[in-house]
Amino acid sequence: MRVLYPGSFDPITNGHLNIIKRSSKIFDEVCVAILNNPGKSSLFTVKERMKMIKDSCYNIPNIIVSSFNSLTVDAARELECSIIIRGLRAVTDYESEMQMALVNKELNDEIETFFMVADGEYSFLSSSIIKEIASFGGDFESLVPENVSKKLLEKYGRK
Ligand code: ADP
Repeated sequence: MRVLYPGSFDPITNGHLNIIKRSSKIFDEVCVAILNNPGKSSLFTVKERMKMIKDSCYNIPNIIVSSFNSLTVDAARELECSIIIRGLRAVTDYESEMQMALVNKELNDEIETFFMVADGEYSFLSSSIIKEIASFGGDFESLVPENVSKKLLEKYGRK
């Protein structure tokens, strides 16, 4: 069974990686797909984000990295995924995730959304908090994969 893990991944964090690793043990294949949303500004290009995901997941054999600029359910169908995986951090994630899952069900009732509860140690972690820490010169090295850490330091002119 192949599942879709969609998101912005701008950039991938240890929280995302935790969800990817756990899903890869449950399902045959995990397709990590970047939503290429031209209306939303991002720090990294889709190409850069894809490379960072591939490099971070180099030791996970059943991963596919992809991108899409369509409805998530359409991407799931095209990539032959019958399940969408989403991570749940705090209750604040619940409302928007619930809405999205219901909308996706309305659009295509053959695709299910599965939620995975974030591990406690990552429940505070988001790509935006990482970018904020990095932009103010704080320490973020323990919160993202090593290759991502290097890219962030380059982006913010610290290396
Ligand atoms: P989006 O912009 O669609 O929220 P993100 O890249 O921020 O995409 O997140 C993709 C998915 O990963 C979402 O389901 C989000 O809840 C989940 N996620 C993000 N950070 C973490 C984390 N620290 N632990 C677990 N899941 C997370």
